[in-house]
Amino acid sequence: MPARFTYKNGDRPLDGYTIKRGIGHGGFGEVYFAVSDGGKEVALKLIRTNVDVELRGIQICLNLKHHNLVQIYDLKEDVNGNNWIVMEYISGKGLNEWIKENPRGLSEEQVCRWFPQMARGVAYLHEKGIVHRDLKPGNVFIENDVVKVGDYGLCKLISGTHQFQHTEGIGTLYYMAPEVGQGVYGKAIDIYAAGAILYEMLTGQVPFNGQTPSEILIKHQTAAPDLSRVPEPYRPIIAKALHKQPDQRYASMTEMAEAVEKIGGSGEVPTVVRPTDAISRKPPPVVIPVEPKTDWRLILAESCGTFGVAAALALLWMVPWIAVEHLVEENRDIAEYGAALFLITLTSWSVLALSMVWRSIRGASPLWMRLSYLITGLGLGVVAAWLRGWSFDFYPEARESAGIFSSLLADLGQACPLPGAVFCYMTFFGLALAIPRWWRMTDRQRRKRFSFWPVVVTGLGAALAALFWPETSYSGLQSWVVGFVVLIATSVIVQLASPWYPPPPKAARAPLRYRLT
Ligand code: ATP
Ligand code: MG
Repeated sequence: MPARFTYKNGDRPLDGYTIKRGIGHGGFGEVYFAVSDGGKEVALKLIRTNVDVELRGIQICLNLKHHNLVQIYDLKEDVNGNNWIVMEYISGKGLNEWIKENPRGLSEEQVCRWFPQMARGVAYLHEKGIVHRDLKPGNVFIENDVVKVGDYGLCKLISGTHQFQHTEGIGTLYYMAPEVGQGVYGKAIDIYAAGAILYEMLTGQVPFNGQTPSEILIKHQTAAPDLSRVPEPYRPIIAKALHKQPDQRYASMTEMAEAVEKIGGSGEVPTVVRPTDAISRKPPPVVIPVEPKTDWRLILAESCGTFGVAAALALLWMVPWIAVEHLVEENRDIAEYGAALFLITLTSWSVLALSMVWRSIRGASPLWMRLSYLITGLGLGVVAAWLRGWSFDFYPEARESAGIFSSLLADLGQACPLPGAVFCYMTFFGLALAIPRWWRMTDRQRRKRFSFWPVVVTGLGAALAALFWPETSYSGLQSWVVGFVVLIATSVIVQLASPWYPPPPKAARAPLRYRLT
């Protein structure tokens, strides 16, 4: 249900202005289109008294003038004690609307035309010692191809100590620099937000998304933006602007504006030229995207969760299996089910662990990835063969010696009834693991948490690999079906257990407010 407006056409809550219509609602209150008694069209922003605000910020901004800023005309109080901001009315669309209408991103030409204007508006604020703090597409307007940044100074309305206690209106998480969480509000937070906006203008997607506010916050702090979606020349710019360390970002908004302008002008990969470099004619330093620091705590916590869930799912997987077998056959030994459970868990864990390794290596080649799964499969084959009762009598002499490890080997070292069996197991697991694209199943940004297709591919791969399954029977689960089930279970479990950051639902792309109380 659309939120209601307090005032309607013809109302005069503020002396000298007549309301024409409500435009929208924001974090602080309502925005109206109004006309002054003299005939000037304005936007009126109502700031409710119940918002614990400090008006100094907006007062400082009253006399700022810049081509790329929405001009603030006045600050007024009505008879009810509510404050109103009287500002320039912008008839054009917001940048958020432009992005919404172009879900795959704006054209590079539009980006080169608009982004530098936005950056120059913010640069002017910085020159005046003002940090915007709420830079986002919803606060950037485009009127007749002129970009106007609005809502500056408004965030200063919130006194620093209460910054997080408001449920709304202090910006959106998608554009929030990591250091904001520690109460750092330098101009670098606007540069970070501009980096996120540039990313969104080019791709139609915010760089860090998630289902919960804390997930987004964690990504701002730890995740590297996926620059593969961004056109090549913009990558170093976005990487620098979104750097986790504020001092590693652009030193000024103007510098960032110039970097984008340069792409528009020359089409070359941008470099940052500082004035001193230009004078001394030194070659300009090339901006190198820097990877953010790894947060080991997060990795540890996430791994424990992932591996734990995988083990639990493996256990759960056994329930219907045992139930079905119980119905059609006489009872098996519990150890046989134990062996299958062990294999499912071990295979899932191996796949998950390898995926974690490959995730940390950017741009890894699928060939190497496949090879690593193949080698892991060979190892799993050895374990499976051993588990199934074949032993490796590698150290017959061990039987004679007395050490604990040696006697263990000796116990295992019964004669191998079919030496080729180990090889068969290795081939089965090696092939079955090399065929599916596990890295896709465990990709955090996969389209759906669980897809059926990879399970089918895994099943087909396992069926193919089963041609190598040893024919002989032995004590335990006998047929290749076991290996097949182990692989199918693994493809289901790794998908369900791997972390998943879903793409943003289209409807929920609008401002996500945060509450950190
Ligand atoms: P925030 O409070 O974080 O800025 P917001 O930008 O969504 O959130 P408001 O700034 O209150 O909310 O704006 C509400 C609506 O009014 C938006 O649709 C915005 O496009 C519109 N609006 C704001 N200022 C103007 C203006 N000067 N001219 C025309 N429309 C405006
Ligand atoms: Mg706004």
